[in-house]
Amino acid sequence: MRYISTRGGLIGGQVSAPFSTVLLEGLASDGGLSMPESYPRAELDAWRPLSYPALCLEIVSRFVDDIPRDALKAIIDKTYTQEIFSSAEITPVRELEPGLSLLCVSNGPTLAFKDIALQLLGNLFEYVLEREGRVINILGATSGDTGSSAEYAMRGKRGIKVFMLSPHKRMSAFQQAQMYTLDDPNIFNLAIEGTFDCCQDIVKAVGGDTAFKKQYHLGAVNSINWARVMAQIVYYFKGYFAVTRKNGEPLDVAVPTGNFGNILAAYVAKQMGLPLRRLILATNENDVLDEFFKSGHYRPRSPEETHATSSPSMDISKASNFERYIFDCVGRDSTVMRDLWAQLAQHGGFKLTEQVHQRVQASGFVSGRSTHIDRLQTIRDIYCRYGVMIDPHTADGVKVGQEYRETGVPLLCVETALPAKFAVTIEEALGKTPPRPEIYADIEQRPQHYKVLPADAGAVKAFMRERLI
Ligand SMILES: *Cc1c(COP(=O)(O)O)cnc(C)c1O
Repeated sequence: MRYISTRGGLIGGQVSAPFSTVLLEGLASDGGLSMPESYPRAELDAWRPLSYPALCLEIVSRFVDDIPRDALKAIIDKTYTQEIFSSAEITPVRELEPGLSLLCVSNGPTLAFKDIALQLLGNLFEYVLEREGRVINILGATSGDTGSSAEYAMRGKRGIKVFMLSPHKRMSAFQQAQMYTLDDPNIFNLAIEGTFDCCQDIVKAVGGDTAFKKQYHLGAVNSINWARVMAQIVYYFKGYFAVTRKNGEPLDVAVPTGNFGNILAAYVAKQMGLPLRRLILATNENDVLDEFFKSGHYRPRSPEETHATSSPSMDISKASNFERYIFDCVGRDSTVMRDLWAQLAQHGGFKLTEQVHQRVQASGFVSGRSTHIDRLQTIRDIYCRYGVMIDPHTADGVKVGQEYRETGVPLLCVETALPAKFAVTIEEALGKTPPRPEIYADIEQRPQHYKVLPADAGAVKAFMRERLI
């Protein structure tokens, strides 16, 4: 399998690149995103009985042909274990009632679905870096979830250091404790005196210093990394096999969406031949994608126009993986892509032609939005009816999913975080505190390790220089 850029440019200096290059490089030279040249065919009958790691190996090996199968197997087997994900099933399905289930993908170390991909990414990085005799220094910014997932995935890994910027005193006590209690020598928490946007600006400024970037081998693990999408494809297959009895039966999935990574994985699974009927996309009050799927008009908002909501991991102004989906809808024509993204830069949006909009409508996506009130109501409703607590993001998905639910077609809603991570909203909805997994019981009381720095790229660079290889 080779990878190409959505805008036709080079990846790592090549027109088409192998997986390892895509894993380490991130963006193509033209700002485009990497996509596999084609989608492999699913083998549903052979895959149905497989365990999670075995299924993962079958799927991942079709996207990765520059890591030998036995090495890939060892990487996958050490990633998806009961110790790390708290059950042998890794992503168990929980039935609420016949025809309505949750796909539980949030039982990893940081209690959100991002662990599924990032735990694998950490082990893939370590393997490829060691093979190529390289090191990488990951610089990132986080408002909570992604940063902690990345740190738990990279801790203790050879050849990797992580410098994670977070807004000082602006995260929840739990999120802060999750990150700052790590004391591995390769993890550096930098608490920046500013907002999340300031943190992102610093990452851009430091990364934009090409000499610094090259000298210190800077890299990223952001949401556009193809390997993250690839890893997430696996649990849609696992969920399908758990909910259906026979291959060919239809299934609808509902996915709360921010950067369009999780639902893109569902879309790729469908392209591979998984019988998903509807891909139900849920947004919160930041409803750019709902607007797009209803109108064909894509109009991302500025950070200032982005609301801070009670499902904060979906407070995204521009969904970074969306470009990959549009690439398919325009027939993988990189000229059209360059044109659309030039319109985006110039006019702040684009409207699809009638023909492309028809393709969007035929692709299985439907969408809806959910607000704070909907979230509270859904959390209450699911708790009263089934005795199950769901987190606010999951509630957005369940709310919109139910609007599209049809008798005869089971609905699988993706649980993207555990309620323990978002206790304030759960308390508002239910008047009680969500239970926490044992290992996190007293996390706020443990010693924290972080450095407070001013919102200044120079200060961050100076800190990094002292600690870099
Ligand atoms: C990241 C995240 C989302 C959004 O997922 P995308 O892949 O960005 O669409 C939803 N819920 C939770 C809890 C998250 O952490």
